[in-house]
Amino acid sequence: MQPISDKEIRGSFVNCSKGDARRANLPRGLSDLPWDDLDFLGWCDPGAPERGYIVAERDGGLVGVTLRLAQDVRRSIAKSTICSICLTAHSGTGVALFTAPRVGAAGRQGNTVGTYICADLACSLYVRGKKRADLDTYETLTVEERVVRAVGNLSAFLDKVFDGTPSIAT
Ligand SMILES: [Zn+2]
Repeated sequence: MQPISDKEIRGSFVNCSKGDARRANLPRGLSDLPWDDLDFLGWCDPGAPERGYIVAERDGGLVGVTLRLAQDVRRSIAKSTICSICLTAHSGTGVALFTAPRVGAAGRQGNTVGTYICADLACSLYVRGKKRADLDTYETLTVEERVVRAVGNLSAFLDKVFDGTPSIAT
């Protein structure tokens, strides 16, 4: 993706208040991130570990969603879990259940969408082999094909967050 600024990130959030967007702790060293290797920007709040964020390009604009780490019972039972975005398999706490408030009135009423995602939200780097999970994922797809698949899965997740609400570009 194209490098984006602090201001663009804060202006992209669609499912939280302006105050929450202002208070979000952004990733450190924004200008030094490997933007060429990122299909979306995902990070955990350095000041609030139960919060995460995803900012992605969508319909020619940027869409940012806030996520919350859910208490996950499956994590303690399952030996491995697969990220629903990039399909990387991780053991233990490598995949976490995140919930995102839906856009608009539904979200304000507490309606959320949950999905399992790499706990560090670094799917783009796992897909490209720049980061390795502790389990091997056997894939016959090329990196390009895995990128397309991950982008499609993220887009489907964002569709659920919007849930029919027009993606309002700000
Ligand atoms: Zn992932």
